[in-house]
Amino acid sequence: MGDYLVRCVIDGSVHPSSALVCQEHDSLLRTHYSARRLELRDMPGIWRFYDWLPVKGIIPEVCQGSVTYRSSDLGDELGLKNLYISFSGYWPERGARMPTCSFKDLEAAPTMQRLREHGQGRPLVVASAGNTARAFADAAARTGQRTVLFVPEGAVQRVWTSAEPANTVLVAVRGDYADAISVADSVQRRTGLVPEGGARNIARRDGMGTVMLEAAVRIGRMPEHYFQAIGSGTGGISAWEAAMRLVSDGRFGQHLPRLHLAQSLPNAPIYYAWSGREPGPYAQHAFDDVLFNRHPPYWIAGGVRDALSATGGCVYGITDEEAWRAKRLFEECEGVDILRAPAVAVAALEAAVRSGSVGADDLVLLNITGGGEERLREEGVTNQVQPDGTVSGWQEALQLLEEMGGAWNHRRF
Ligand SMILES: *Cc1c(COP(=O)(O)O)cnc(C)c1O
Repeated sequence: MGDYLVRCVIDGSVHPSSALVCQEHDSLLRTHYSARRLELRDMPGIWRFYDWLPVKGIIPEVCQGSVTYRSSDLGDELGLKNLYISFSGYWPERGARMPTCSFKDLEAAPTMQRLREHGQGRPLVVASAGNTARAFADAAARTGQRTVLFVPEGAVQRVWTSAEPANTVLVAVRGDYADAISVADSVQRRTGLVPEGGARNIARRDGMGTVMLEAAVRIGRMPEHYFQAIGSGTGGISAWEAAMRLVSDGRFGQHLPRLHLAQSLPNAPIYYAWSGREPGPYAQHAFDDVLFNRHPPYWIAGGVRDALSATGGCVYGITDEEAWRAKRLFEECEGVDILRAPAVAVAALEAAVRSGSVGADDLVLLNITGGGEERLREEGVTNQVQPDGTVSGWQEALQLLEEMGGAWNHRRF
C-alpha cells in the first residue's frame, strides 16, 4: 500500500521518486500507483486518498480537502439538471475548511510530506503569483518545514495564513510572476534548497487531482464535463491524470471527462495556443494574476495540450466583464463568496451552455478553485505575512537569505 513508481510519460522509464524531470525527454513524470482500485483510507481529509498520493506517511495537521455538492440554484439558473460544484475554500456549513481558501492547499500537504521523506531538512523554494505562496506559508507554519517564498511585489498582500506565521521567508520580487519564477530558479540552482517544481511536481498534481477523486466518490461516477479556470493548467492536467486512474479502477465510468479550461483575456496564452488565434499584447493588470503564466506546461509531453487532446477538451477566453457578471451570479445563487479566478470558470460554463456544448442532462463538475475568504476573514483568523525584503534579482535575494541568519544561509546546504 502507498506503493508507486515515477515514470516518464514518453517511454515509461522509471525515475527516482524525488525526481522532477526526465533527463532524456521533454516530458512530465507521472506517478503509477500499484493500487488499481481506490480504497478510501480511514484518515483525515485528502489523506483518505492515500493510495493515490505519492507519499509514505501523512501530516495529519495539513489535510483539508475539496467538497463536492449538487448545485440547486446555479444549475436551475443555467438550465442544468446535474451540475455539481467542487468547492475548495472555507465554507464550514458544507464541510470545507481549507486554511488559505484555494485549491493550492491541496498541493501543499503532499508536497510537505514528501519533503519529510526526501528533503533532508533543507528549506523549500516556492515561486508564486500569491495563492501557492499562501498555501505553503500556512503549511510551513503548521509543519515546521522552512520555506522561502518568491512573490511579485504587487501580490504580497495575498500571502496570509490562518495558522500563526512561522518558518517562512517571504521575498517580494520587483516585476511580475515570470520575474519571481526566474529569481526563485536562480536562487535554488545556486543553493542546495529544494525546488517546489510547479507542474513537474507529482505531489502538486496528485494533490490537486483529489478534486476529481473526491467528486467521483461523492457522485458515484466521473463527470462528463470538468470546468476550471487555469493559469498554468496544472489543475487540468491533474484532473485528467486522476480520471485516467479512475477509468482503470473501473467503478467510476469508462469515459474521461471532457476538460473545459478557461483563461482570462487578453492574458491567455493557452487559449491562443489551443484555438490557433493570434494573441494580442498582454495587459498590465489581469482580472486575476493567478491565471497568468507566460510559460505554461503546454507543449511538454503529458502537459496541457495532451490533456486537452485526450479528453476532447476546449479552452475559453473570458472577458473581465463576463467574469464579473459570473462572479455575482454564482455568489447570489450559491450563497458564498468566491475568488476572482473561479468566476472565469463560471463564465466558461455559461458560454458552454449557450453554445450547446453542454446539454441540460449532462453531468457537469464545476471546480470552484477558491472561495470563502470573506467568510474566513469575518472569523478573524487570518494573519498577514510581512515581506522580509524586496529584491530585483537573485544576487540581492541570496544576500537577503544570508542576512536572515544560520537556518537560511544557503552556504550550509
Ligand atoms: C492557481 C489557481 C488557479 C489555476 O490553476 P492551474 O494551476 O492553472 O490549474 C485557479 N484558481 C485559483 C484560485 C488558483 O489559485
